[in-house]
Order: sequence, then C-alpha cells, then structure tokens
Amino acid sequence: MSDLTAELLVLGSASAIPTLEHENTHLLVVGKEDLILIDCPNNLVVPLQKRGFDPLKVTHLILTHFHADHVAGVAPFLMSSWLMGRRQPLHLYGLEETLWRFEKMMELFQWETWNGLFPIEIHRLPPQRMYLAFQSEQFEVYSSPVHHLIDTVGLRIRNRWTGECIAYSCDTEPCEEVVELAQGCKALIHEAVGAYRGHTSPQQAGEIARRAEAQSLYLIHYPSENEQVHTWEALARTTFDGVVGLAQDGLKIPF
Ligand SMILES: [Zn+2]
Repeated sequence: MSDLTAELLVLGSASAIPTLEHENTHLLVVGKEDLILIDCPNNLVVPLQKRGFDPLKVTHLILTHFHADHVAGVAPFLMSSWLMGRRQPLHLYGLEETLWRFEKMMELFQWETWNGLFPIEIHRLPPQRMYLAFQSEQFEVYSSPVHHLIDTVGLRIRNRWTGECIAYSCDTEPCEEVVELAQGCKALIHEAVGAYRGHTSPQQAGEIARRAEAQSLYLIHYPSENEQVHTWEALARTTFDGVVGLAQDGLKIPF
C-alpha cells in the first residue's frame, strides 16, 4: 500500500445470520490517519486487535441504520474503549432516527455514569442525497438515504489523494440513490440478501453496478448460510460485465 492509497477492509459479510466464516456485515476504511468504522454488530475490541488494529484508534463511526445485526456491539465497544483509557474524541454519524435510538440505548446503559468517558461527537446526517457527511485530509464521505425497512444511509467514500472511490449500498432495495453514490467508483459493495422487500437480489445489484458504471461489484450481506449462495456471483454477472466478487470476511480493496 503506497502512502496515498487507502484500503477498505470487510470485517464481516453475512446478512443477519452469521456463520463460522462470516460475521454480520461491517466495514473498516483504513487511511493514513483515519480509521473509519462502518457499523458495529459486535464488541470490536478483539476482532480489530486480531486484524492488527488498535481499537482505540478508530476515528469515525458511521451507523447506517438501527438494526441489531448492524449496531448491537456499539455499547460494549464504547464501554471497553473507555475502560481501556481512550481519551480522544470519536466522531459518530447517523440519521436522526438511528441516533435517537442510539442515545436511548446508551441511556438504558446509564452512560452518564461512565466517569471520564471520552467525548463522543454526534453528527446528525440529514436525509439528503450526496450529503457531505465529513471531510478529512484524506477522505470525503457522502451519504444518501436508501430504501430499506427503516431509515438507512448508503455511502460514497472518496480518497482525495488518489481520486478513487468506493460505494456501499448498505441494506436497501435497488434504488437511484445507490446508482448516484456509486457513479464511476472503483468498487460498489452492494447488499444481496435476495429479492425481498427492503433488499436486493444479485441480478438487481448487477444492474445497479452497470448503471453506475462501477468498475467492480462485491456482493455483501448475503445469506451465507444458504446453500445456493455460491450461485450469487454468476447471477450478478448476468446483468454486469465488470469484475464481480462475493465479499468474504477479510477482503481488502485498495483505493
Ligand atoms: Zn437492516
């Protein structure tokens, strides 16, 4: 990895049912200074350490939506980070509904009694398309509301130093917002639960990648316990000519 290149690391690739090889879907963007965590289904102290990262160095946490398979680990992760001596602020992002529920959850855990808790800077994302959620020296991160069962955001992450970007659909039906987020991206990471309400089939994900003119498509949040999932890539290739992969835990995409 050159000094300018960033990396997207798939920490988990399963839909709501994890398996021995697949944790629930969550991602880490690794930059020179920034460590951007996208969702937190489990306490990530040990999983991050196992992958060689200091969990206290996470700079930004984006909660895409308040479903348990995406956010259930936030409270123990914050608690462990506090007890491990974290001092530097953590920037937390989410839609209004997501953050409202997050704050309710933390009240149940009585976080006001966590003496000396590091600052958690809460940033509310408006339900606007291509909203610039934040910009650091290296990254620009854009969010758009997508079409899931509850309020959810998809993301576009641009490495300003290389000019390359990666988009993540999060949980959604096929939608124009993701076509826009993924326009010209090096990779689109698209959910592929199947053709259910609030979700997307592999063929539909391929169609979105084709319309976005993405270079590659990685299917994620697929039913890893389903015996037919090995056909998912071939199904996506029926609608998309670029590179198609089934994201696995540990997959790294440089950009
Ligand atoms: Zn969901």
